[in-house]
Amino acid sequence: MAKTKIVATIGPASESEEVLRSMIIAGVDVLRFNTKHNEPEWHGEVIERARKISKEEEIPVGILVDLQGPEIRINTPDKKPIVVRKDQLVTFSMTGENGAVQVPTKEIYGAITVGDVVLIDDGKYMFNIVEADKEFFVAKSVDDYEIGNRKGMNIPGVRIDLPSLTGRDFKMLDMAEKVQPDFVALSFVRDAHDIEILRNELKQRDINSHIVSKIEGKQAVENIEHIIDLSDAVMVARGDLGIELPLEQITYWQKLIIKRCRLASKPVITATEMLQSMVENPRPTRAEVSDVSNAVFDGTDATMLSGETATGMYPLKTVQMMETIATFNEGKNFVPSVKFSETANQTRAITHAVMDIVDQSKDFDIDAVVVFTETGRTARDLSRFRPHVPIYAITEDEKTRNQLNLSYGVIPYLVSLPDGVVLEIDKVIAVLKERGIVLSGRRVIFVHGDHWKIPGLTNTITIKEIQ
Ligand code: PEP
Repeated sequence: MAKTKIVATIGPASESEEVLRSMIIAGVDVLRFNTKHNEPEWHGEVIERARKISKEEEIPVGILVDLQGPEIRINTPDKKPIVVRKDQLVTFSMTGENGAVQVPTKEIYGAITVGDVVLIDDGKYMFNIVEADKEFFVAKSVDDYEIGNRKGMNIPGVRIDLPSLTGRDFKMLDMAEKVQPDFVALSFVRDAHDIEILRNELKQRDINSHIVSKIEGKQAVENIEHIIDLSDAVMVARGDLGIELPLEQITYWQKLIIKRCRLASKPVITATEMLQSMVENPRPTRAEVSDVSNAVFDGTDATMLSGETATGMYPLKTVQMMETIATFNEGKNFVPSVKFSETANQTRAITHAVMDIVDQSKDFDIDAVVVFTETGRTARDLSRFRPHVPIYAITEDEKTRNQLNLSYGVIPYLVSLPDGVVLEIDKVIAVLKERGIVLSGRRVIFVHGDHWKIPGLTNTITIKEIQ
């Protein structure tokens, strides 16, 4: 199995038990539920179905509920597509009266000014604003277009003071309270404050999920350090990022965000259009294969499939293709080193030492690293180096196990270990051997603490040849 994790979006093409099962067996690590589509009941049902399959197959699967966040949408007159010609002036207004296109988001009218650009439907249609008022604006069409009703609108570079969570998001959080997902993703994160708002909502609802911040706008990249610090994981959401920022900047930000996330030991997902042509074709383009390979070379934790698995014709084939591309390209020594970055605490010092042993393994091969972890932190601190050996993360906490499924090279196991505060390594090895996690004849590094159930006390490296 690839060390790079796969996040797959679930939709009509993959909601059935049969397809879900085949994708989980083929290597999907995290299932993404995009709440832009479907009702909370649908999400709840399919999440339960996926969890049942995960139990039956004994394959851990993380569940990610992706909140839609604030979106601006247009309503065309009579809900019919409108045809506009190049240079035609079109009026957009709060009410949609007198033949105007309605944009019922009051916050935009005070924010936009003459000279701003408006993009509609994933950036397909472009307008330049020539007049801006309190309740309407007039914009000139850049080309000939036919624009459908309910399409999304972006106004790149303009700060619009929208609440970070909408009514629909709150309904989805009610659903999340019941299903307790492993991750909740926040769309259009602008700054650390947006994350604090969601963290508070989760706390109030007793939802113990990791927060994935989706980086999809100018403000997010400007505040990236702070956002990474406050998030549990990050998604490079290239779809919206490519609308909100000039397209040529996407690759730069992808590389920078991945690097910063690795320095901070936060899992990072590279998302959108990775194998897009497989929505309709059984084989990807060369450029798509190259995109997935390059994300692996950047050191991403995970790659994501959106329409490919949600609505595409070949969900299973796409997952298999992703898995094959990642497997070949991992370990080819292109991933930038984050070694010798700051060693601010004991766990970090220990993980640096582990990597020194693993890296000089030419004459002293190490087959795997085993870490004991309550919160997953030690495993993530090791994973950020993208070691060429697997990291077996042993935890008694199901949520920690599922959350570690997003981290590069980590194979998480739920194991109950013998009681006792002080870890007796030989007793532990006996349990791991019985479970088939470590095998006879292998040389394994164990990373642990005397008090392994107390977070932050990792202080010991033990090398064992398994008998
Ligand atoms: C994206 O914009 O790349 C993305 C993943 O966001 P969404 O699909 O939720 O719009």
